[in-house]
Amino acid sequence: MTKRVAIIGAGMAGLTCARGVAAAGYEVVVFDKARGPGGRLPTRRRDGVAFDHGAPYFSARGAAFKDEVDRWRDAGVAGPWKPRRVQFAPSGPPRILPPETVWLGQPRMSAIGRSLSESLDVRLACRIAVIEREGDHWTLQEESGRDHRGFGVVVSTVPPVQATELLAGLSVSGLSVAGRAADARAKLSDAADAMVPRWSLMLSFEAPFDPGFDVAEFNGPVLERAIRNEAKPLRDPTPAWVVHASAGWSHSCLEAPPTEVAEQIETALRARIPGLPATTSRDTHRWRYATANPQRERGVIDAGHGLLLGGDWTCGAELEDAFDSGQALAAAAVSRLQ
Ligand SMILES: Cc1cc2nc3c(=O)[nH]c(=O)nc-3n(C[C@H](O)[C@H](O)[C@H](O)COP(=O)(O)OP(=O)(O)OC[C@H]3O[C@@H](n4cnc5c(N)ncnc54)[C@H](O)[C@@H]3O)c2cc1C
Repeated sequence: MTKRVAIIGAGMAGLTCARGVAAAGYEVVVFDKARGPGGRLPTRRRDGVAFDHGAPYFSARGAAFKDEVDRWRDAGVAGPWKPRRVQFAPSGPPRILPPETVWLGQPRMSAIGRSLSESLDVRLACRIAVIEREGDHWTLQEESGRDHRGFGVVVSTVPPVQATELLAGLSVSGLSVAGRAADARAKLSDAADAMVPRWSLMLSFEAPFDPGFDVAEFNGPVLERAIRNEAKPLRDPTPAWVVHASAGWSHSCLEAPPTEVAEQIETALRARIPGLPATTSRDTHRWRYATANPQRERGVIDAGHGLLLGGDWTCGAELEDAFDSGQALAAAAVSRLQ
């Protein structure tokens, strides 16, 4: 069997898997449609201000992920943060939540994906449209039509809706797609239904403003969470907030024009937090597949013939779950190659 591994997706699951496979001595190539690595752990610059507009921070609970985060801290790409947290009820003043230490990418969230990509063969701006099995190897075809041949194992770490699309076009010459692949498709279909969207709004303000918290949680119909980016360590001092809309509201206006969405989220925010200064810039990002309802697949779905599926959604809905899946995928890929 060909001893090369292709990984689709350079988020936490894909990069963790790639590092595990490379550490076991196998050749690995990672493909991602985006222009930078990290997946849902990105940072966007707008008018000179950086916003962590995906996962704003993360927790480390299990021993393996704690060790990994310690390595990131030692390498200078992650650090702790103890934000002042409050929770808003539908009306009235917010309740102060107990302090909790979380982790951040340093100096921005995207630093972690960049650091994990170092020394790996990561091909960016490569959207994989078709995967095909020919004889004992796999071929991946980019949307542009370009082929990448000769892989013994293919690992997909894309969200379930996108994995369903990849499996829909799956061509396994001479082999039936019944059995494991059909089972994998059924699991993907359940997982796809459970994936929820989020709109993220990025705001910068013309004057400093301290509302007495760094992170606010809301139970309102529109708002879910607001994070003061400038309150994080090592960030630019320009007042810059990231506001996540609730899953239900995001779903209801998924196809609405971004300017309208921005207007509505900002109006809801100003209604809850009086005194916010005037905005100097406003930007949105639509996360069509933001977070999952866990599928409890222990990180890996084996679709047969050396095709493995994973990602955060196979373990949970957080960055640590993506890491756990990446480790499980690496172990499965290596055992398949041995
Ligand atoms: C708004 C928001 C808030 C969040 N808040 C938190 C939080 O507070 N704490 C926490 O721990 N987690 C949070 N998360 C979740 C966390 O970001 C994810 O669990 C984690 O980043 C998922 O990693 P992954 O590798 O499984 O998937 P992803 O990061 O989504 O990686 C999949 C990659 O596949 C690529 N891709 C997709 N299709 C193709 C294709 N056809 N060809 C090539 N590449 C493709 C994508 O570009 C992407 O880079 C949040 C996420 C969002 C969006």
